[in-house]
Amino acid sequence: MQEKILIVEDNPQNMKLIEMTLRGKGYTLLKAADGEEALDMAMREQPDLIIMDMQLPKLNGLEVTKRLRKTSAFSHTPIIALTAYAMKGDEEKFINGGCDAYVSKPINTRELPGMIAEMLRQRQKGNPLDKW
Ligand code: MN
Repeated sequence: MQEKILIVEDNPQNMKLIEMTLRGKGYTLLKAADGEEALDMAMREQPDLIIMDMQLPKLNGLEVTKRLRKTSAFSHTPIIALTAYAMKGDEEKFINGGCDAYVSKPINTRELPGMIAEMLRQRQKGNPLDKW
C-alpha cells in the first residue's frame, strides 16, 4: 500500500513546492491548509508521516502536533515541523512539543525527499526517531 503523507501548509506556493518535491515518489499526498483541517484530516486518513507548518491559521502547528501526540494512533507518527526563518531559535520548542525534526524555510527541495524516505524507513522498522 502507498504510504500517505499529510502536508499541512497555509501558503499555496510552499504547498505547491512541497507537492512537486514529493510527486512521483509513490506516496499518496494529502493536503490541509489550516490547523483544524489538519487535525480532521489526520484523524480521518491516518497518514504515515506529517509535514507540518508551524504558523497556521485557526490552530498553530505546534498545537496540532501536541493534540495528535495525545492520541495513541499518533504517538509515533513522524512529524516534520516547517519553520519560518523568523522562528530560528524556537526549534527546541517544536521538538519538545512532539515534532521529530524540523526544516527551515526556504525549503531545501533536494534534502526533503531523502529525509522523508529515511524517516518512513525507520518508522517501518519500528526504530525510534530520536536521531532526528
Ligand atoms: Mn504558515
